Amino acid sequence: MSWWSSNVDVPAILESCGECAICCELLYEPFTAPCGHSFCRRCVVASLRHSAKCPSCRTTWQGIPAAPPVNATLAALLARLAPEAYAARGAAAAPLEHKPVARVGLFVLDHMLPKQRMKIHVFEPRYRRLVKRSLERDPPTFGIVGATPDNVMASVFCECEIVECTETPDGRYFCECVARRRRRIARDWVGDDGFRVACVEDLADDAAGDADAADAARLVTDLDGRLDLWLRRCRAGGWGASATLDAVLDDLGPRPAAAGPAVDAEAYGLYAAALINPLPPLGVAPEVRLDALRATDSLARLRLVDRALALSLRHLDPQRRATAVLANGLLRLARAAAALLLAPLASAHAAVASFVSRVARPISDVAGSQ
Ligand SMILES: [Zn+2]
Ligand SMILES: [Zn+2]
Repeated sequence: MSWWSSNVDVPAILESCGECAICCELLYEPFTAPCGHSFCRRCVVASLRHSAKCPSCRTTWQGIPAAPPVNATLAALLARLAPEAYAARGAAAAPLEHKPVARVGLFVLDHMLPKQRMKIHVFEPRYRRLVKRSLERDPPTFGIVGATPDNVMASVFCECEIVECTETPDGRYFCECVARRRRRIARDWVGDDGFRVACVEDLADDAAGDADAADAARLVTDLDGRLDLWLRRCRAGGWGASATLDAVLDDLGPRPAAAGPAVDAEAYGLYAAALINPLPPLGVAPEVRLDALRATDSLARLRLVDRALALSLRHLDPQRRATAVLANGLLRLARAAAALLLAPLASAHAAVASFVSRVARPISDVAGSQ
């Protein structure tokens, strides 16, 4: 006597056990997760980009490889039970898209753009453990991630290399880090060591169409001249007199090509954003680091930088600054007069202050008015 049943209802079996709960089609190249549920492996890869939980039972999956292995027995069974449908699924399947997924410890601190440099004093116990773990990697890296305006951790960040590190006798660290590459967080959690850990993918700009690429190349050429003007105004206004600007230029390295076939709109946009928004900030340009970091459209990033640069150039305009200096002098004078003459002239002081504050608006107001 056989151990199998002779009156098998194949369609009923396939309907109850052969369907992927994600795509609702016949399982193709099934992968069986640690919780025991099986899905097409392409569906698993796609699902993991949004959540690490099993779509059927909500168990949190851990340790799923970037290219989940096929459950060969189940695949063979399905191919025998429904040969035509299984072959059709195979013919229609796109290549398995498995971007390499890396695991990175995160320091929740600030946004950094590629090539930017930051010095950090690490004293919190969880971040001391993060640095210790990072130093075990080759090269020693961790992620530095900032918050969105809603105070939520951003989903993009730069993986940073620790280039200098000194440990104090009591276990704190003084680290110097350089942002190496943009990353996108696929999922993240608080690890056993108390700091956030993320599975990440590389982040790069999408390929541009011909029209956008031509617009981007023109904008790069245009931005290049205005970046020189911006540098001159920074230096003339006293911002470049400190070592800060020279150090920033040194960190960022050669400026990417601004003309000819070598124009790289992504590299140029990131360079320009990092230059006008350096770390520590010069405070002369609107903040664009997060938007520049998360953009995957080179032309959109260049336009963002273009707007920020225009505002910064206005802020640094020598004539406008002279007016601001004069206005500030008037304001101080008005305050002194008001203090001397007290109440009877208080209203005059308020009127002068109101006028002066309109003339000498700070850069943040100018940015806000756009
Ligand atoms: Zn599926
Ligand atoms: Zn499950």
